[in-house]
Amino acid sequence: MKPESKISVLFDRLLCAFFPRRCVYCGRLIVPERTVCEDCAANLPRITAPVCSFCGCTKADCTCKQKKLKFDAVCAPFYYEKAIERAVHRFKFEDKDFLARPFAQEIALAIHRDFAQQPFDVVTFIPFTKRQARSRAFNPSELLARETARALSLPCVPLLEKLFETETQHHLSQTARTGNVFGVYEVKDAAAVQDKRVLLIDDIKTTGATLSECAKVLKIAGASSVHAAVFAVAKKKKGKTAHGSSGSGENTGSGKGL
Ligand SMILES: [Zn+2]
Ligand SMILES: [Zn+2]
Repeated sequence: MKPESKISVLFDRLLCAFFPRRCVYCGRLIVPERTVCEDCAANLPRITAPVCSFCGCTKADCTCKQKKLKFDAVCAPFYYEKAIERAVHRFKFEDKDFLARPFAQEIALAIHRDFAQQPFDVVTFIPFTKRQARSRAFNPSELLARETARALSLPCVPLLEKLFETETQHHLSQTARTGNVFGVYEVKDAAAVQDKRVLLIDDIKTTGATLSECAKVLKIAGASSVHAAVFAVAKKKKGKTAHGSSGSGENTGSGKGL
């Protein structure tokens, strides 16, 4: 080992003595050379190519029957289960905002994999209402969008506005979810959207109703395409979606723990 790399390892260890390094997914203490514990690394529910662009699942797991939503395609690095479900909970409900960066790096990798041929002009996110923004430490969708934009060297612009609060989505059926978000979102400034190829970011996709509604209003305002990318996709379980698997857009309750 070169003397300078020895010094950097020593410095790293010293840093970890004062600021212990934790697994980004489960929060367990780990050795300084790693960012993920061995357990999580071996068990991450990764989505692998080839991917269904309609639902974001690995094609072998897809049960969506290519149901067309208003976004052009969706991609994600992970399924919403196991370590990822716990990690998203830490991020959203224990206010671990620093997780946005490693999560966004994974989103960016999924975008490189699945949207490699697709150029984007702007990154945006599912907005909160003003009241939600006041009651929550941060908007998970916005934070992920900002970090994903940084990773892709694209601008992140708040293109959408949420007009009013909606019922929480996780206990609603697909049809009810679509109705629940209908007319809730509006484009802030149509000129900023005109002819733009938009990348829409959220934390979790469940039925896709929120992403679809936002893609719809962006397209009505003149966006030439809207692709969605999320951190985790909830797999369908026996005719319904995984419990509690609502994205920041789909999980629209005003309470912190919803
Ligand atoms: Zn872990
Ligand atoms: Zn599918």
